[in-house]
Amino acid sequence: MRELHQLTVAAASTALASGELTSVALTEALLERIALLEPKLQAFLTVTGEHALDAARTADLSRRATSGPLHGIPLAIKDVISTRGVPTTCGSAILDGFVPPYNATVVERLEAAGAVSLGKLNCDEFAMGSSTETSAYKVTRNPWDPDRVPGGSSGGSAAAVAAGMVPGSLGTDTGGSIRQPAALCGVSGLKPTYGRVSRYGLIAYASSLDQIGPFAWSAADLALLLGAIAGHDPRDGTSAQRTVPDYAAALTGDLRGLRVGVPREYFVEGMEPGVAQATREAIAVLRDQGATLVELSLPHTKYALPTYYIIAPAEASTNLARYDGVRYGPREAGESMWDTIELTRGRRFGAEVRRRIMLGTYALSAGYYDAYYRRAQQVRTLIKADFEQAFSQVDLLATPTSPTVAFKVGQRLNDPLAMYLSDVCTLPVNLAGVPALVVPCGFSESLPVGLQLIGRPFEEELLLRAGDAYQQVTPWHTQRPDLVA
Ligand code: GLN
Repeated sequence: MRELHQLTVAAASTALASGELTSVALTEALLERIALLEPKLQAFLTVTGEHALDAARTADLSRRATSGPLHGIPLAIKDVISTRGVPTTCGSAILDGFVPPYNATVVERLEAAGAVSLGKLNCDEFAMGSSTETSAYKVTRNPWDPDRVPGGSSGGSAAAVAAGMVPGSLGTDTGGSIRQPAALCGVSGLKPTYGRVSRYGLIAYASSLDQIGPFAWSAADLALLLGAIAGHDPRDGTSAQRTVPDYAAALTGDLRGLRVGVPREYFVEGMEPGVAQATREAIAVLRDQGATLVELSLPHTKYALPTYYIIAPAEASTNLARYDGVRYGPREAGESMWDTIELTRGRRFGAEVRRRIMLGTYALSAGYYDAYYRRAQQVRTLIKADFEQAFSQVDLLATPTSPTVAFKVGQRLNDPLAMYLSDVCTLPVNLAGVPALVVPCGFSESLPVGLQLIGRPFEEELLLRAGDAYQQVTPWHTQRPDLVA
């Protein structure tokens, strides 16, 4: 057996089922790994060690022949997802010390599947960012090079998997926050279709775009995690009434006859040559496995960034109106109610969150609504139509994920536009509501590159099949950073 921190979800699951390994032993090993690496990587906001060991003991005692694949598997959760009794801060000082009284549906589902949570993962404040540097608490480091960012906003979720602290984790993706950090940390990540996974208990950023999804080493592991969290939830009005397929059973390894579109707009100007090359080589592998490549165009791609930066801040400005120093988190008391609200919001929201609230409030204000918000919604429809048109010709799309590899800590923090440009290849997917998978596809200057596969709504099975088939013939998803030197 490989070292415990190198086990995939599937391998750990097999070892647990055969009795070769216990959940307690695995949980202890990973808690040690976290203790060893956390000072360097800063991926966690809360480690729930005692609670995890209790849950692992229970999992070992309750194991049956019929136990599912996540029974006894240690995982960790992005800190924007509510966990009963465990602090949930969204990386923001405005929720410092906030302890939710209930669990998000995804947390309930993972617990019901027997998974063991090791804690909560760092992220950009309210998931606004692409580097995990806007967290009020810490800057997470990239396990492949601690001078670099892990990407964001789910940087803790990606770094924890890449460092072998947990074999899988949950993140959220509003404009790329699962896929870009997966690419930059060399792990696999899936943004499911809008509506595929319940968001009950997810602290909202931009409600028409947010989606929860998993990180792991392989597409096969993502299939196991998605199977556990997907499905209709009466407590989330946007969750789809569709049955959940057996994602693991869809992994046939066969790509013959599949039509794969390569949209030319995604090889954007300014993309690092090493990123473009690794992506093109990965696409050639799909062709060698029997897929037919079709070069095509998604003509409205260039409008995705400005459209997103109207819609997401507009929704954020309304979602974040609830943080007033009265109902949640700490209060900065002033002389009057208005002073209190102003002081609390002024002192406890970070600069990026304040910028988004101002942008969003402006875009929604009387006189500007038609010029900005309504217009952005109209362009969003055109972007969605691009995908519909493409999917009438091909079964999935293959693109780069991020125009660059992981950048240096501090490099883009004072240049919001450069930071926003990190997401040019991922934002259109959220605007269209379609699913997308990222798998590691090589290295550029010794740093990981990720291939993005985009699918039709609710065709996660096909995405996972393609990602898994690719991983059956390539080594990238098995490579680990050398951390204990
Ligand atoms: N980086 C993008 C933003 O800052 C996307 C973030 C996300 O997907 N949560 O809004």
